[in-house]
Amino acid sequence: MKHKISQLLSVLLSFILNLVSPPKCAICKDLLEESGELCPICLEYFAHAMNRRCPICAKTARSCTCRPRYMQYTTELGSKRMLALTYFAKADCTDPGDIAARKLVYAVKKSSSRSCARFAARQLSHELLKFFAKEKLDISKWYITYPPRSNEGIRTYGFDQSKQLVSLISEYTGIKIMKCFKRKKGKMQKLLSTTERKMNADSLYGLLKDADVRDKRFLIIDDVITSGATVNACAALLLHNGAADAFPVCISRMKKKKRLPKRKAPKKLWFR
Ligand SMILES: [Zn+2]
Ligand SMILES: [Zn+2]
Repeated sequence: MKHKISQLLSVLLSFILNLVSPPKCAICKDLLEESGELCPICLEYFAHAMNRRCPICAKTARSCTCRPRYMQYTTELGSKRMLALTYFAKADCTDPGDIAARKLVYAVKKSSSRSCARFAARQLSHELLKFFAKEKLDISKWYITYPPRSNEGIRTYGFDQSKQLVSLISEYTGIKIMKCFKRKKGKMQKLLSTTERKMNADSLYGLLKDADVRDKRFLIIDDVITSGATVNACAALLLHNGAADAFPVCISRMKKKKRLPKRKAPKKLWFR
């Protein structure tokens, strides 16, 4: 009887909540006609973003083998350096898929409503399980961890987006969470140039005293991987303290630029 009453109450509560704030698409904020997190158009755009190709290795972000500039260590997980759902496009991108992928990352960073995080975490969990099955690895032997958000970021947005992602991924996949890192005082990564990021990241994180990482394998979850400096610093901390492996997982990774061949300087003519 008690169970039935609480069930009835929760149905009533979600009905009232729907009336007060009807569910909206996490990307375009349009009202949703059906349950879920994204509207059908944004879902299609996101699927399109997942099929965008890398200019260097011509693979999708999920199977891209390119190494971000500051990722120095290698993991045991096949030829892949990390797992990402999409590429992270620049602010001036025009492709609708790129725009949708970018907006999703910002929604995960800025909106404490869990709907965008739920969508991203579900996609990531699905890809993770698929990848581990393909590599014939037992995902239950791994742990998930994350570089924590700065206090300033938490004050501004009221939550830690990576912590939110990690708890949802753990819910969907059953992988255990281990909090490993503390954040020391330092500058925010997004304010720095690529070279500065590397130096800053190396001194920004420390290993928590009670984190027992020895012989364990870790998935390091971050929303965006740009230069790779943050995940590299976190992986180095884990590996130097005896962890067996560290593999980065993110929603979006920066696309590597194709380098143009250097143009030869024009020859100087003797009569000039
Ligand atoms: Zn939408
Ligand atoms: Zn690539």
